[in-house]
Amino acid sequence: MKTVYLGLGSSIGDKEGIITSALAEIEKWGSNFSVSSFFYSKPWGGVAKNMFLNVVCSIDVVDTLSSDALLDMAQLLEKKFLRTRTLRWEDRTLDIDILLYGDEKVCTNRLVIPHPYILERDFVYIPLLEVFSRCDTKESLRMYLEFVESGVEYGM
Ligand code: AMP
Repeated sequence: MKTVYLGLGSSIGDKEGIITSALAEIEKWGSNFSVSSFFYSKPWGGVAKNMFLNVVCSIDVVDTLSSDALLDMAQLLEKKFLRTRTLRWEDRTLDIDILLYGDEKVCTNRLVIPHPYILERDFVYIPLLEVFSRCDTKESLRMYLEFVESGVEYGM
């Protein structure tokens, strides 16, 4: 099994309802499911206008679930909540980012993991720290991310 961490955001419609329903779906993907507090944040990136509701969850998934397959599942779930894509960083019913995929670094044309903006977004790293028991401060998270990005195995 590997533990994956997902960041969810919603800024259109019944945000609490959308996030709660999406979490109920994600819970079915594996075991040991855990969810952070709900975090309300101002729009980021200069395009979206609405307040966002953000949450981070973690779940243990089977090793055979590739990061690509996980992204497919996340994008299917976004579609279910009528997510449209026109502009980057625009308001959206549901956005799901793969923040961490075990201790693995992924860099393909579809995916960059760890997600590159984790430390720049307080609405991501604060809820992430709530569910990521291996780090308890932004600094320790920064060090962890540096290790993962360096490709060196991280022994704890
Ligand atoms: P977004 O607009 O945030 O939904 O992201 C759009 C694209 O970002 C997706 O189609 C993915 O291919 C790509 N992407 C790259 N890295 C990630 C990641 N870690 N999690 C989710 N999407 C990612």
